[in-house]
Amino acid sequence: MSCDEYESWDRFLADESFFDGPEPSSLDVDIFQTIMRHPPPSRLFHLYRWFQNISSYSLLERQSFPKSTRSISRYRLKTMTKGKVHEGEGDKAPVKELSPWPSFIQVERDRIQLWDKFKVQHEDRIASLPKEDIDITLPDGKIVKGQAWMTSPYDIAAGISQGLADSAVISKVNGELWDLDRPLESSCKLELLKFDSEEGQQVFWHSSAHILGEAMERVYGGCLCYGPPIESGFYYDMSMDSQVSSGDFGTLEELVKKVVKEKQPFERLELTKEQLAEMFQYNEFKLRILKNKVTTPTTTVYRCGPLIDLCRGPHVRHTGKVKAFKVTRSSASYWEGNSEAESLQRVYGISFPDPKQLKEWQKFQEEAAKRDHRKIGREQELFFFHELSPGSCFFLPKGAHIYNVLMNTIKTEYRKRGFDEVISPNIYNSKLWIQSGHWQHYAENMFSFDCEKEKYALKPMNCPGHCLMFDHRIRSWRELPIRYADFGVLHRNELSGALTGLIRVRRFQQDDAHIFCAPDQIKSEISSCLDFLKCIYTIFGFTFKLNLSTRPKTFLGEIEQWNLAEKQLEESLNDFGMPWKLNPEDGAFYGPKIDITIMDALQRPHQCATIQLDFQLPVRFNLLFMGEDGERHRPVIVHRAILGSVERMMAVLCENFGGKWPFWLSPRQVVVIPIAAAYDEYAEKVRKQLHDAGFQADVDITSGDTFNKKVRNAQLAQFNFILVVGEKEQSNGTVNVRTRDNKVHGEFNVEEVVKKFGALKDEKTLHSEESF
Ligand SMILES: [Zn+2]
Ligand SMILES: [Zn+2]
Repeated sequence: MSCDEYESWDRFLADESFFDGPEPSSLDVDIFQTIMRHPPPSRLFHLYRWFQNISSYSLLERQSFPKSTRSISRYRLKTMTKGKVHEGEGDKAPVKELSPWPSFIQVERDRIQLWDKFKVQHEDRIASLPKEDIDITLPDGKIVKGQAWMTSPYDIAAGISQGLADSAVISKVNGELWDLDRPLESSCKLELLKFDSEEGQQVFWHSSAHILGEAMERVYGGCLCYGPPIESGFYYDMSMDSQVSSGDFGTLEELVKKVVKEKQPFERLELTKEQLAEMFQYNEFKLRILKNKVTTPTTTVYRCGPLIDLCRGPHVRHTGKVKAFKVTRSSASYWEGNSEAESLQRVYGISFPDPKQLKEWQKFQEEAAKRDHRKIGREQELFFFHELSPGSCFFLPKGAHIYNVLMNTIKTEYRKRGFDEVISPNIYNSKLWIQSGHWQHYAENMFSFDCEKEKYALKPMNCPGHCLMFDHRIRSWRELPIRYADFGVLHRNELSGALTGLIRVRRFQQDDAHIFCAPDQIKSEISSCLDFLKCIYTIFGFTFKLNLSTRPKTFLGEIEQWNLAEKQLEESLNDFGMPWKLNPEDGAFYGPKIDITIMDALQRPHQCATIQLDFQLPVRFNLLFMGEDGERHRPVIVHRAILGSVERMMAVLCENFGGKWPFWLSPRQVVVIPIAAAYDEYAEKVRKQLHDAGFQADVDITSGDTFNKKVRNAQLAQFNFILVVGEKEQSNGTVNVRTRDNKVHGEFNVEEVVKKFGALKDEKTLHSEESF
């Protein structure tokens, strides 16, 4: 690509958001594809910004951009050489199914021949087993008769109803997942699972990974490695010479369609390690799994069509169950995630038993991607990350504004609710961490270093420091509860590969507080924690669910102490008046807790807040207070946070609001736009008035844009309010109030606007644009 080309595009983008208007279009994708292998240098600021923006979209999203009527050729200069353009991914020749198939599938001593041989032996053995009568107990207690080594879960399901048999994904026999066509071996309990259960989903996606693996073998001919289900979909890793490109996805999907149409049954065999080593001699990765991961003398192998794969199973009955299938992306990966090991190609997919579900999933993905906080953070210039400090965020002025407003909101509540802010050190001698127990259990997550021949570490949490503060002098019952709040900077040594935007970081702050109270104060403290939580989450517009997790099987401390605490927790939850659920035995070993799950605007769950009791830390630090009875008593610690990590909460809020920040939190509350240059001075005067009154106010007088373009830019930048000024407004000392959603409120005095804005901010009104 020539420099001239890049420079002319850069100049073009100085005035335009994208190549064809204010929103990305297919033209942007075309241009992006021609230069994606050669990213523009950052000195070409506008092109660089555009490139970063387009690359932040997934391939799927890019495909969904509206079609542009303009053609790429208009944007090309004659200086461009043809050869270079052809490096673009879009122009690569598409891959095809191999013909013939790779030799390990079908030649002398191949997998299928061995499979057929072993299958005959297996069938002979099953046939020789006695077919005794067995009882199969269904979840409702009903008992169905069957025969050992004959009757399958599918037979039982079909005996109840064909609909049930068709919709079942997998069965569970005595709690163990079991192929629907695998004969039962003795009397048992039987359950049937559908796609709507988490286990059903995982089996379905795991089976889909085999289908993808079959297609990859037939197209690329490489060696399959691991192909597991993941949280949403599945992937398969392959060792191969070439690179998978997004242009290949269509070929893979077409082949998958054929495989699905053939309804290839998933067949199961149990073989010895020696037999398997012979079968997989062509694939050193499967041999490694066999050698290092399989600890039993025999293990299972599954076949669908020509694919035979080492696998514990179980699977759906046949490939025809996968009615909707999409290859979503590909990437490079390493064998077992180890960057020292072989480099592999990973292909991701998603599948469903019903094409409607795939459509819904795609819609949801698009909506979620639009709201991705990393994308919004970039577009709104809120924050960025730099390779020189992975996992530690740089908050730009607008992002820092949101961060500070969040903290100040909590600080204001602290004053009302009897919390005292403290400031505590960031680095501590390892002796502190040994006393708190972190050194023994958490050391690999801490950043540590030597200082004057002693080991020190950056704090991953505030609690041990607060224990030192409590223990600083003798405490009396009259002082309790003591509520120490601390926004201290925390560091946790997350693996760089696990870092994701603001969701998982190395450096963060929490609205952390520790309440030191007497055991009989638990109820009232928890009640006020719940009230605090409700107050904050209501401001954000979140709904939430509560769960009480109680004493686990292995716990520390006195059982009476646990009982007393759990009783008080239950009482405060009941008094709170919201429904809550019990998670028996799910508490931490050092105390029971209340789990709080919030639901965002897309109904995605997040866990941010914490209310955790701790009986052990006071023991480890030997914390005591003088009771009313003149005796020494042990306090209880409540760890609590509402925002949790402020970084993470920012990400959650960003995606919840989709970048349309509510007025009180917005880093761009208002912009003043003059209708012509003659009113620039008045516009600036209004901006200053608003700024001085404490609002995030801007004015658009510098750019050479037309008035309409300025309004559009302000809307895209998500300014809550747009104040338009012209001749009339200037002579009346007024402004014309509009919103980012095109609502026009009309002409108001500036003083009046300041007053209204003040009320909207103080009351933290969620939809200020309508309520103005
Ligand atoms: Zn499998
Ligand atoms: Zn804590």
